Amino acid sequence: MKSPKPLFLFDIDGTLLSKAGPHHRHALEHAAGLSAGRPITTEGVPVAGMLDRDILRLMLSQAGVSDKRIAQWMPAIVAEAQRHYPRICPDLRHRVCPGMRAFLGKLRRRGIAAGLVTGNLSRIGWHKMHQAGLRSFFSFGAFAEMGRTRTELAARAMQQARRMKLCSEDCKVYLVGDHLNDIRAARDNKISIISVTTGPMSRQELSAFSPDFLLDNIRDLPLEIMET
Ligand SMILES: [Mg+2]
Repeated sequence: MKSPKPLFLFDIDGTLLSKAGPHHRHALEHAAGLSAGRPITTEGVPVAGMLDRDILRLMLSQAGVSDKRIAQWMPAIVAEAQRHYPRICPDLRHRVCPGMRAFLGKLRRRGIAAGLVTGNLSRIGWHKMHQAGLRSFFSFGAFAEMGRTRTELAARAMQQARRMKLCSEDCKVYLVGDHLNDIRAARDNKISIISVTTGPMSRQELSAFSPDFLLDNIRDLPLEIMET
């Protein structure tokens, strides 16, 4: 009997796109600054592998804003960041990581579903995909506002795929990501992790966590895994 088709989940920053520019950071700073009535910076805040709302919390708390205020302001800040980003986001087609566009095309030709699992807020994430010319490859996604951790987001994305009948209950799931936090999210959900070296973490750093696959370019992924 043939095994069910696998499901592929992708992180965005450092995985599908490399160095997408400061616009995302600027949108968060703009929105936080608007609520605070003074400049709020991402400087000193680790953004890689993080969820947007956690980045915002750290930015504000570093600027001396109380937890209570942050919680009160958060809905407006999240809304404003998502309104602002599409206004300033440039063309991102040349930021797509090598091999990714062809790989997504390969999945589509085989009828294998692809979704997003990203720390980006939903409108920011979808807009990046649109500007990168990758929007049509993805039919669903889990974004920053849909969970507290990347582990929750990966679980949410799998639920969506199953609800949409894009994969079977028992299908094999692969998460593609550039960060240790992606490895953790995959492990917590008992799915396979494909780590790529196109983000800030080096091959050596990632290999210390023994991902199932560790690739410099997604085209090096053995094709057999698409068959099983
Ligand atoms: Mg990433």
